[in-house]
Amino acid sequence: MTNDTTDHAGGDGPAGDGLRTGVVGAGVMGRDIAALLANAGCEVVLVDVDADALAAAESYLQREASAALADAGLATDTDPLADRTSYATDLDALADCEFVVEAISESLDAKRGLLAELEAVLAPDAVVGTNTSSLTASAVAAEAEYPERVVLFHFANPAIPRDVVEINGESASEDALALAESVARAMGKTPFRLGTERRANGLSRLSAAIKCAGTWELLDADAAEIEVGARNMGFPRGPLAFIDLIGLDIHLATVDNLAVEYGGRFAPPESVRERMETMVADGRAGAKDGEGFFRWEDGEAVLPAVESPHDVQPIVAALVNEAHRMVADGVADRETLNEILKRGSGGAIGPFDIEGMVGGDVLRDVLESRYAETGAGVFEPAETLG
Ligand code: NAD
Repeated sequence: MTNDTTDHAGGDGPAGDGLRTGVVGAGVMGRDIAALLANAGCEVVLVDVDADALAAAESYLQREASAALADAGLATDTDPLADRTSYATDLDALADCEFVVEAISESLDAKRGLLAELEAVLAPDAVVGTNTSSLTASAVAAEAEYPERVVLFHFANPAIPRDVVEINGESASEDALALAESVARAMGKTPFRLGTERRANGLSRLSAAIKCAGTWELLDADAAEIEVGARNMGFPRGPLAFIDLIGLDIHLATVDNLAVEYGGRFAPPESVRERMETMVADGRAGAKDGEGFFRWEDGEAVLPAVESPHDVQPIVAALVNEAHRMVADGVADRETLNEILKRGSGGAIGPFDIEGMVGGDVLRDVLESRYAETGAGVFEPAETLG
């Protein structure tokens, strides 16, 4: 496990200039990744099967991405986005690419299918980075002709301002991993080489613990009480607003993906799952529908007045607890996990900073009591905590 916090000046890294790159999937993540690559000096082909999604991404890259790059302190002084970016609905357009990022839907079958199609187009030594949040690079590569080309290349959302890219891949070659790190630096990002591959990797697993614990707190408090309690504790956004933002449907699909490896550890209580499924069926799947746990206006959850904010210590304890499990699993060391959470959330503290402030014994007491009450795996204390 290594991390690199020294060499990440925007746009002037070693792999940017002229590298022929592609991005498949022009959605929320893919369009920002394309902008970052173009800004780094790469030639970029952005591909999506959906022509409307592609047109929307093109408009975003032409009209909005430069400002987002400037706000993040990453903008280069030319206008490279339009000059260096082309758009296609067919993967053949990627034939010359040396580095391709896939940011399509979060489905193992879809990602494996895409990889098979890419291998028919790309040179054997081209590298493919997967932005998967709940799978592993080697699972995506398992049926590939050249599995050594597939690396995890995972961004936080929003990708432009968040300074973190998680990289690993147990079937990946060292050359492929090194190219991915070099490209991340050229994009102005700090790459973190994770250790053992586990589903959800680093940031997504910490986030899964927070969101899951938030759904268990719904047994004792309403969504607004939890949200205000979380914000009072210093979270930029609470777990239920976070689920709203991702979409309740996507969140439940991620829970199911993680269950393959972790059993029920990240699952909501059954009654809350039923409630969320009903909300999805009724067209209240979160921010994209204008309503989920909260009503959404201008990209923000509208919070009603709350008389008694909920005590969210169990959510905080679940976060620190999961970080302990990840260290034990060999995913990353404490310093790396602190950095990943800070950089990925835009916040000022990591899980082990929190433990230092609150005390591991206090957190263990909170978890023991909540685990006794609920039996929820997310609250089961890790051996090393406290
Ligand atoms: P999205 O739904 O916004 O965009 C996905 C795009 O992929 C769509 O435009 C779709 O038309 C396109 N697509 C689907 N199958 C395709 C195919 N075979 N070929 C070409 N295009 C195809 O999704 P997103 O939120 O950008 O997520 C993309 C990936 O990034 C997922 O793996 C997700 O888990 C991961 N991720 C998402 C976030 C997040 O917060 N949204 C954060 C980190 C990682």
